[in-house]
Amino acid sequence: MAEFVLVKCNCGSEQPVFKYAKSIVRCMNCNAVLAEPRGGEAKIIGEIQKELE
Ligand SMILES: [Zn+2]
Repeated sequence: MAEFVLVKCNCGSEQPVFKYAKSIVRCMNCNAVLAEPRGGEAKIIGEIQKELE
């Protein structure tokens, strides 16, 4: 089961995000929030491109 997803930000940057992130994940390029912790699987804010093995 994939634990990381590749998320695309509105700025066009893509980065891997841990599905079960315990803290807010921000875009490395523009600092926008890409994922918020939800006590389990994080809520992904950006556009999920694919799951990473
Ligand atoms: Zn961005």
